[in-house]
Amino acid sequence: MNPSDVHIIDERISRWLYLNPTAEKLPHHIESLLYAQQRHEEAVRSKKLVIRPIESSIELKDALEEALLPYAERTEAEKMLADYIDEIVDVDDLKLHQLVDKMRRCRNSGVMGKTSDDRTVFVWDEKCSCSKLCPHESRDETQRLIRRYHSPIIDFINEKNSHRAFYSVFSYQNYKPGDLKEGKRDIIKRFNKWRGNHPEVKGALLIEEDPLSVHGDWNVHLNVILLVDGAFCYGQARTTWGNEYQLYITKLNQDNLTKTLIEAIKYSAQIVPSKSAAKASANATRAPAMIQWSHEQWIEWWKANKGFRRTRSYGVLYGIKDDEAGDELTDVTWLGEIEFSHDGRYFVSLILGDKSGRKYQRMSDLFDQYDQWDNYNVREGPP
Ligand SMILES: [Zn+2]
Repeated sequence: MNPSDVHIIDERISRWLYLNPTAEKLPHHIESLLYAQQRHEEAVRSKKLVIRPIESSIELKDALEEALLPYAERTEAEKMLADYIDEIVDVDDLKLHQLVDKMRRCRNSGVMGKTSDDRTVFVWDEKCSCSKLCPHESRDETQRLIRRYHSPIIDFINEKNSHRAFYSVFSYQNYKPGDLKEGKRDIIKRFNKWRGNHPEVKGALLIEEDPLSVHGDWNVHLNVILLVDGAFCYGQARTTWGNEYQLYITKLNQDNLTKTLIEAIKYSAQIVPSKSAAKASANATRAPAMIQWSHEQWIEWWKANKGFRRTRSYGVLYGIKDDEAGDELTDVTWLGEIEFSHDGRYFVSLILGDKSGRKYQRMSDLFDQYDQWDNYNVREGPP
């Protein structure tokens, strides 16, 4: 960046540059401010953006912080899990301790904004990228699954009168400690064999799950959305799977297909750490939450899951790619900078347009009572 441009850009960017004179790259949240400012100015010029009056800024801040409550819950859960892993793994296991650090820094701060079609978007300063443990990553993954498979499934059903979709849970034997890795392989093989005996099944979306049971063995099972053409006999499906094992099947409600489909995917895709914690706290089962597992149990689970693809697709659903290339960050009005605070919530500092829309002001420039700003102000720096 050319230093002579600094005077025309946001004061916070120039502050950051002043405090980090040797940095070669702007961090996400600062870079997006720059971007936000450009967008904002463009929007003001084209009169697309309604400039919010200052009087409503407290409401906006409250609304944003309220919208962040579920995010805060996930961040808390992730931190608890990181503490647990930190405690149980060997001190010299550097890789896992690095993962613990990443989980602790995951989504602690960033910026949030709204797209013109009213979607809330975030740019986080750091993410852990561990979809098997992180409640945030798992949620993103679930949304990707829904984006990817929702339309193809609906299209399949609408294509022919004889096409239907079923939600099913294939259970098999529980596996004793030490046998989880083998169990995960077995059940997938068994499902493939089952599918071979059911040519009416034209496609499937499979999500594998492997929580620890109340008895301390592994309850490996599969959640599967089955796409079927023609007659599908539950009894026969159970016989082929093995009558001694449970196979639950239910037809996806055609009248409310989108909703039931999304619910089925959401439920299936939930990761073991989140699901077991929710169940344990709701007392729905006595199966232990992940953070109650022993060191051996956790290490076995982690090793068995490393490199294991828990989501698979078959037949007409095989090889489907996302039609969108991830989150597009064009056309975003950035509304606030967010920071996770020690009381377990996200704190929002609004990025506001003044009435002329030429300049951003920070909430905390108007209300000086926030500690972090008191601290910031005593540092030396440009205006
Ligand atoms: Zn994370």
